[in-house]
Amino acid sequence: ALSVNNIIKYFHDPETIQVLKGISFDVQPGEFLALIGKSGSGKSTLLYLLSTMDTDYEGTIQINGTRLTGRKQNELARFRNEHIGFVFQFHYLLPEFSVLDNVMLPALKLGKQPPEQIRKKALELLYMLDIKGHEDKKASRISGGQQQRVAIARALINDPAIIMGDEPTGNLDSKNTKVVFDIFRELARERGQTIIAVTHDDEFAANCNRVIEMVDGKIVGE
Ligand code: ATP
Ligand code: MG
Repeated sequence: ALSVNNIIKYFHDPETIQVLKGISFDVQPGEFLALIGKSGSGKSTLLYLLSTMDTDYEGTIQINGTRLTGRKQNELARFRNEHIGFVFQFHYLLPEFSVLDNVMLPALKLGKQPPEQIRKKALELLYMLDIKGHEDKKASRISGGQQQRVAIARALINDPAIIMGDEPTGNLDSKNTKVVFDIFRELARERGQTIIAVTHDDEFAANCNRVIEMVDGKIVGE
C-alpha cells in the first residue's frame, strides 16, 4: 500500500512556485488508480515524488510500511528497483541493447535470481505483452507501440508492488492502449499489484477503479 501525507512541493526556477499544495491519499494493493487533471496541475511532479526519484518535498511518503521520506539516494535506488515499476510516455529503452536484455536488466541488477530464471521470466512477460519473435532485435528496431510494451515488460520484471505510469498509453493507438489497459487491470485484479497511471485519456480513466483529479496542485475530487 502507498500512503501519502500532506505533500508540499516548490520549484524555485525561475521564480518560487508552490506546485503541490498539501496532497494526501492512500492507495491499497490491487487498486487501479487514474490521476487526471489539466496540464500544469502537478501530476508528473507528484508521480516523480511517489516514485522516489525526486526527494525535495515536505510531507511523507510510505510504501508497504517503509517510510521513504528522508532516506539516502542509494537506499532509494534499491527500493525503487525492487518495489516500483515505472512506465513513461517515452519509454527510455536502451536502443543498442536487445529487447530481451532491456527487460532482464533491472532483475540482473537486483541479483535475486539466477540469470536463466530471469531470462525465462522476461520471455514470459514479452509473450504476455504480445512481443514474440522480436526478443533478439535491438530495441531501436521495433515499432513505437512494441517499444512501449517492452518498457512495460521491463517495469514488471521485478514484480513491483506498485506500478506507476506517466501517460503510459500516451503514445499508443487505441488498440495498443486497450492491450496495455487490460494488462494493468489484470495485474491489479489477479496479482494485487497497485497501478497509478497519469492519463489524459477519459475513457482510460473511466475504466479504472478509482480516479483522483488534481487542479492547481491540489486534489479536488475522487
Ligand atoms: P501535463 O499534463 O502537461 O504533463 P502536469 O500535471 O504533469 O502537466 P507538472 O509537470 O507536474 O504538470 O508541472 C506542474 C507545474 O510545475 C507547472 O506549472 C510546471 O511549469 C512546473 N514545473 C514542472 N517541472 C518544473 C521544473 N523542473 N522547474 C520549475 N517548474 C517546474
Ligand atoms: Mg505531466
